[in-house]
Amino acid sequence: MFGLKADWSLEVFDRYFTIGDYAGGEARWCPGCGDHAVLSAAQRVLRDEQQKPELSVCVSGIGCSSRMPHYMGTYGFHGLHGRALPVACGIKARRPELDVWVATGDGDCFSIGTSHWIHAIRYNMDMTLMVFDNAIYGLTKAQTSPTTPMGLKTNTHPFGATIDPHNPLTITLGITNVSFVAQVVDWNPPLLYETLKAAYRHRGTAFVRIVQRCPVYAEEVFKELQNDPSRFLLLEHEKGIALDPSVRRQFPERIEHDPSDLASAFRVAADPGRFPLGLLYHAPEAPCYEDLSSQGSEMTPEQRLAGLDKVLDQLTI
Ligand code: SF4
Repeated sequence: MFGLKADWSLEVFDRYFTIGDYAGGEARWCPGCGDHAVLSAAQRVLRDEQQKPELSVCVSGIGCSSRMPHYMGTYGFHGLHGRALPVACGIKARRPELDVWVATGDGDCFSIGTSHWIHAIRYNMDMTLMVFDNAIYGLTKAQTSPTTPMGLKTNTHPFGATIDPHNPLTITLGITNVSFVAQVVDWNPPLLYETLKAAYRHRGTAFVRIVQRCPVYAEEVFKELQNDPSRFLLLEHEKGIALDPSVRRQFPERIEHDPSDLASAFRVAADPGRFPLGLLYHAPEAPCYEDLSSQGSEMTPEQRLAGLDKVLDQLTI
């Protein structure tokens, strides 16, 4: 204009998102809490996938880990105790284009939300389901949870938890239409990142049990685990999680495990002597409920009314 070079342009550039675009409020978990590592890994996955923050939503129930939506720069829904999954399924049903992350804990998912956990796995709606399993109710200060190890002293069992904990892996593997089951620990960032990335890329409900340190209320459980890598069994396979050489060094006990083999996944998950790490089961072809439930959504109001009339007419006596 007037021979001068314009210093502005109407051209629309693609946005490039940085980690800061996925950051919400300052995380207020205790120092040393494993939740910090999970938050960082999830933000890195979103950044590396260049997912638009406004097309992502993080849903949670109640518990320490359920504060995650506050710390994400995405949409968020901090719900009721045990009810993260029905909210997440509702979001996916009405807004299938949104990318849904669920943050829940062992108490929230495996106790109060048990029925939702079972039905959500069967529905297999496309979402990343992160269960932060610290084996204790941390937010309410140390009650026994469904995964508290036998003998651990808690406020509700001062002489030690009295019955064996749930095995969330075998339970999840036993649910109809299960499509993705993985286990990881919070203190190995490369494996945590790769596992969440694989879960994010999976179409369906990706169940990831994250063994998560609570140094305040369950320190002895996780110190013991951290100090004894021989208690873990790293799962290797070309169809499994990509393994960094540092991950192989940290977990020397390894087996070749094909994640499409459900019977083998059960055997690995049920072994009381070892914590498997990596992808136990993957069935990418399992049907997603949103594909089925959305059928007919393009019908006009008149077509819907006509259909309703037809059904009601069948009930006329
Ligand atoms: Fe984390 Fe435990 Fe503190 Fe909760 S109480 S924020 S789980 S360290």
